[in-house]
Amino acid sequence: MDLRFGRIAVEQGYISEGQLQEALHEQERLRTEGEEIEVGQLLLRRNSLSTLQFLEVLAIQKSIPWICRKCELLFDTRELLEAPGRCPKCGGTLAVPLRR
Ligand SMILES: [Zn+2]
Repeated sequence: MDLRFGRIAVEQGYISEGQLQEALHEQERLRTEGEEIEVGQLLLRRNSLSTLQFLEVLAIQKSIPWICRKCELLFDTRELLEAPGRCPKCGGTLAVPLRR
């Protein structure tokens, strides 16, 4: 699952293969110190990904549509590549309804 997050982030062009490998090594190092952290969280912490990019990768990974806070329409991430985080219909702010 972690690997898939990293794969998508690389495919989307948000991080390089090198950044992914570094993050995976860092994750392994932290694990030996007893800290469990997901690669996505780690990339966020290292500022390799912006918050918006992080949410985009999660939305793709989990097939979660974005929802417009204003008109409440749902959009697939792939429809939003030109203006991520913005509703193509009304220009409102989009959110990813994440459930854990
Ligand atoms: Zn809208």
